[in-house]
Amino acid sequence: MQLLSQQFINNQWVASKGTRMLDVMNPYREERIAQVTAGDASDVDAAVHAARKAQPAWQALGGVARAAYLEGFADALETRRESLITLSATNNGKPLMEAGIDLDDAIACYRYYAKQAKALDTRQGEPVNVEMEGVEARTYHDPVGVVGLITPWNFPLVTSAWKLAPALAAGCTVVLKPSEVTPLPEQVLADIALEINLPAGVLNLLNGDGEGIGAPLTRHPGVDKISFTGSNRVGEAVMQAASARTASVSLELGGKSPIIVMEDADPEQAADWVMAGIYFNAGQICSATSRLLVHENVAEALYAALAERMDALTLGDPLAEGTDLGPMTSAKQRETVQRYLNIAAQEGLTAVRDATHRTLPDQGYFLAPTLYRDVPVESRLWQEEIFGPVLCARSVVSEAEAIALADDSAYGLAATVISGDPERAKRIGRKLKAGSIWYNSEQLVLPETAWGGFKRSGIGRELGPWGLSAYLEVKHVIGPA
Ligand code: NAD
Repeated sequence: MQLLSQQFINNQWVASKGTRMLDVMNPYREERIAQVTAGDASDVDAAVHAARKAQPAWQALGGVARAAYLEGFADALETRRESLITLSATNNGKPLMEAGIDLDDAIACYRYYAKQAKALDTRQGEPVNVEMEGVEARTYHDPVGVVGLITPWNFPLVTSAWKLAPALAAGCTVVLKPSEVTPLPEQVLADIALEINLPAGVLNLLNGDGEGIGAPLTRHPGVDKISFTGSNRVGEAVMQAASARTASVSLELGGKSPIIVMEDADPEQAADWVMAGIYFNAGQICSATSRLLVHENVAEALYAALAERMDALTLGDPLAEGTDLGPMTSAKQRETVQRYLNIAAQEGLTAVRDATHRTLPDQGYFLAPTLYRDVPVESRLWQEEIFGPVLCARSVVSEAEAIALADDSAYGLAATVISGDPERAKRIGRKLKAGSIWYNSEQLVLPETAWGGFKRSGIGRELGPWGLSAYLEVKHVIGPA
């Protein structure tokens, strides 16, 4: 069993001062595979100190030199491809194919921000056109400084890459805190830092939980910005802590995203997209399209196509080829989802498919892929993020009703529109209040496109140039020409 009792600070693995240890599980075998320190505030202090010391030289290095390190991260991740996919599948319960996507998207992100880092050098000292005569003004893009990056458990390699790559590209130094539920994949980032000779203190990685590391990191006066991905409950606490010292935050929070299927859609094709939107990673995706709004003319055909596909899903060992759906990542998350299933039973929701339709594997934190139809909008299952393989559906009679119901949510992370007419799908999509709109596709996320939510789904954007801007301060230098 692996013991993660050390913290990566200033390019050295040092013993954590934390006295509590937390279990890290294999959710398929239901067995402990590691123990991780819960960390403590003195670990945070040492890491922030190292990051502060390293920041000026990292900034002075310039974007071209920083880009070479980002390429180094990408290359080193690629050389470890097989072992990382196995590790991710083991710690997360993701099927191999999904663990591969987590890794490949992370690699693409490091490569994308290597290009952005190079371009940053040419953006320094951009002239500003001012109307006042005899005055010269230039704009510079300076790194924010030291940033605290806090990641969740559902896509460890990609959620850390979306923060770490732009932060390093911008010239920030970093204290990264992986989720204590799935800390194993992100440990590789420290090994890579040593392998590629990243200057000491540029990346510090602290193992631990919210109490030991997360909260002290968000409170620390030496941290200029926190970038957080996780639940709304914790995101709000992070924002409060940061507000006490006017530190800035980026928040990537929860979602309850709609998928609209119009009457001109092919129900068989639409069913493939609906499946991809909710059963990928067993529904543990912030952008899962978990509310299905289907036009009444195609509703029965779509439910039939979905039932057929759900019956064909293979649940089992994430490491086995051919597994479509792994277990929930933790026993706690299975309990959370189970509570919603119990509410559904109390509310008398109609299940097209649920646990009564299949036998679950006899080990692992599994839940049956579930589809409820005709779900009332007042139901908690319609309103709240479930974060599991549970799709709630209801039919609509018009495009206007679909749009109104789609936007009737506290969240606004993503939305999908399926129509036989792509122009119509795009037009509907433009009307929706969400950060990512997919038309006739699902979960299409590329490094060049922005990621982030409207409403309670968060503050700020990751990816693309916006993801880099999140780690830059704009300043101008102005005076007589
Ligand atoms: P979580 O909020 O429980 O934990 C996220 C991280 O915050 C973990 O590293 C945790 O240790 C840390 N943390 C806990 N308490 C803290 C505190 N007081 N201060 C600072 N840090 C603290 O979330 P989770 O269960 O790991 O992830 C699931 C949630 O993440 C879902 O709501 C999902 O929608 C959201 N999510 C959002 C996105 C997005 O891009 N919008 C992506 C992935 C996940």
